[in-house]
Amino acid sequence: MTQARLMDGTALARRIVEDTARKAAELTGRTGSAPCLATVLVGEDPASVTYVRMKQNRCRKAGIASRHIALPAATTTGELVGTLRELSADPAVHGILLQHPVGDHVDERAAFEAIAPEKDVDGVTFASFASMSFGLPGFVSCTPGGILRLLDEYGVGLAGKRAVVVGRSAILGKPVGMLLLARDATVTYCHSRTADLSAAVGEADLVVAAVGRARLIRGQDIKPGAVVIDAGYNPGNVGDVDFDSAARRASLITPVPGGVGPMTIATLLEQTVEAAARQLGA
Ligand code: NAP
Repeated sequence: MTQARLMDGTALARRIVEDTARKAAELTGRTGSAPCLATVLVGEDPASVTYVRMKQNRCRKAGIASRHIALPAATTTGELVGTLRELSADPAVHGILLQHPVGDHVDERAAFEAIAPEKDVDGVTFASFASMSFGLPGFVSCTPGGILRLLDEYGVGLAGKRAVVVGRSAILGKPVGMLLLARDATVTYCHSRTADLSAAVGEADLVVAAVGRARLIRGQDIKPGAVVIDAGYNPGNVGDVDFDSAARRASLITPVPGGVGPMTIATLLEQTVEAAARQLGA
């Protein structure tokens, strides 16, 4: 048995962030305005607080200004929509990130739709999903966009390949499948109602695990030589794929951590600078 080659998301993300920082500095120098990402957090869920802080830190290091809006857990849909509309109309803000989940009492979709598409650098609006699906200009959902970059970096050909995406969430499973379809892969979506997950995964030349269940996909499910992308991130830094057994069957595999995770933030930063460049007319 051979051991799969690792797809190093940390290294690729570092290069993307360095390139983004150069573009941010150049844009700031040319226009006098630094790109600015507004982060909006409802409540104080510890994981969400950590994610937002991490995104702000990365922004700072890349020369992107950030503005943080912390709203109380009891914020209503109307109040959140109002805040997002204000940010959408504020010319000093170029990108908006609503950290989710936002809490069960809030209509998350209504909140996302209050983000102007030209500032939707996290790729969460209907408009962004449609543009992405039709291959039109716009911002991609960050984790799926990062996954495609990683596949390209490692020269993974997609046309005609059988891709199985496990998970169909609006921010991850569905959009990654659409991006793979746009690249001429033959895409199958699996989800909690899929009758025989092992059989479906076993057909795949490319498996994208986007479930949120630790080690759900096992090595014995993987077709020898397949490419395995593990977007899962479960307690204890564990992915959705049983790494050790899968690495003995796959040709390429992402580690957790250090695979997909860093690519998400890199894509967010890159899209923020792109949004700023368009809005500043530079
Ligand atoms: P989600 O909204 O909870 O969606 C999970 C998906 O998995 C659903 O479509 C669900 O099916 C499916 N599923 C659940 N149990 C299953 C099973 N036993 N067999 C097959 N499918 C099953 O989760 P998400 O937001 O997409 O996140 C998925 C994972 O990715 C999580 O671990 C999350 O932490 C991670 N993630 C990582 C990043 C990153 O930057 N690395 C970003 C986002 C998410 P149904 O639709 O039928 O319910």
